[in-house]
Amino acid sequence: MLSDYRIPAEPYYRPVGDEVALFTAACAARLPMILKGPTGCGKTRFLEHMAWRLGRPLVTVACHEDMGAADLVGRWLLEPAGTVWRDGPLTRAVRHGAICYLDEVVEARQDTLVAIHPLTDSRRMLPLERTGEVVPAHPDFLLVVSYNPGYQALQKDLKESTRQRFGALAFTYPEPSAEAEIVAREAGLDEVMAMRLVRVGTAARALVAEGLAEGASTRMLVHAGRLIAGGVGFAPACALAVTTPLTDDPVLLDALAAAVAAQA
Ligand code: ADP
Repeated sequence: MLSDYRIPAEPYYRPVGDEVALFTAACAARLPMILKGPTGCGKTRFLEHMAWRLGRPLVTVACHEDMGAADLVGRWLLEPAGTVWRDGPLTRAVRHGAICYLDEVVEARQDTLVAIHPLTDSRRMLPLERTGEVVPAHPDFLLVVSYNPGYQALQKDLKESTRQRFGALAFTYPEPSAEAEIVAREAGLDEVMAMRLVRVGTAARALVAEGLAEGASTRMLVHAGRLIAGGVGFAPACALAVTTPLTDDPVLLDALAAAVAAQA
């Protein structure tokens, strides 16, 4: 049923605080959770790790503005044998006791998100308007959503009536020694080289005050690290994986290049 969504091996996750214990407790209390934080700082990896730890399948939905309620709950399909109902990812998770992860939830329209309300209060059920069925949530079902508070347009914020149904964990970039450990492990580099990349990341994050939309993510540093592990030089790897994708602003690009040169 949901075997395709099981995570077979432990995903590497370096804890940065007490998030593992807190999430475990929230899960036991069946509290829906928000993971908030900048892009590429470890939210998805954390949840993959937790799903593996808790032995639950993980059903992920990347939210977008064209997504309708049917994309979450399911739809009638015309097949040679007639019309058949096909559960959407949320309904599958609700029925079979998976973690349903709505990634970048604020991208979804408000009318789509209303579908999750009966699942996030004491009712714990999903009414399927189009079939008339009311699906009670499996005891192991858990709803988790993520978003990035940094680049949220006001009109894309979560509605209070949605927000106040959740508990939340705030993520940020790991502190330098933890981030170096992560970059070293994920890219296959030694920690000295990983720390040089982390310093570039830290310098890039400081440029947010100068107008950079968002600092370099841990993901970007891992990408640069993989290039270096594959034989690319430090400066070109940083240019390709970190600084060039980050911005088009010539002044900021100069400042980023200087940050790279300081570590090269
Ligand atoms: P997002 O916050 O956008 O969901 P991800 O979870 O995809 O970010 O993290 C991006 C990458 O950063 C991961 O693929 C992983 O390589 C690395 N990463 C970030 N934080 C951690 C961490 N604490 N432990 C292990 N890897 C991490």
